[in-house]
Amino acid sequence: MHFLQEVFCVKSLLRQLREVFPKEPLPERPITTHCCPDCDNAEKLLGGQHWPEVADAFPPECPADFVLLTPVAQQYYLPAFMVSVFRSNGLPVDSLESALAKGRLTSAFFTPLLRAAIGRWVVEYCGRRISLSGGRKRWQRHNVRFLLMAASSSENDRE
Ligand SMILES: [Zn+2]
Repeated sequence: MHFLQEVFCVKSLLRQLREVFPKEPLPERPITTHCCPDCDNAEKLLGGQHWPEVADAFPPECPADFVLLTPVAQQYYLPAFMVSVFRSNGLPVDSLESALAKGRLTSAFFTPLLRAAIGRWVVEYCGRRISLSGGRKRWQRHNVRFLLMAASSSENDRE
């Protein structure tokens, strides 16, 4: 894809995420259920903040912390993790990838509108992830297919 076209797509995706994901209510604290330095740190850095604020200044310590959050906190902070990838210092969000690939994000919370946004994010993220991982063919073959399958199955399952 042409560079400018790509920038346009990402901007429009980020706008869509901010529009469709609810900012209220905040998940109850603590947002982690376990006590260890990693979970305590996630609670301290993310807890009590609205997701757009987290997305605007995503803590560099936290890209792997998705898996530590309670289910309610995962649903709430999902868009902050999704947006963080597209910041200039964005890192791959492995724990979010695995949650998505394992189908752990297909709860009734995600309306068709949210699922459409998640599916669109997967497409953009796969492109970004390939460049973040240095274009490793192995990642590309396996994970792009896997993530796309996960996103389309969450769009298809109807409660
Ligand atoms: Zn822990």
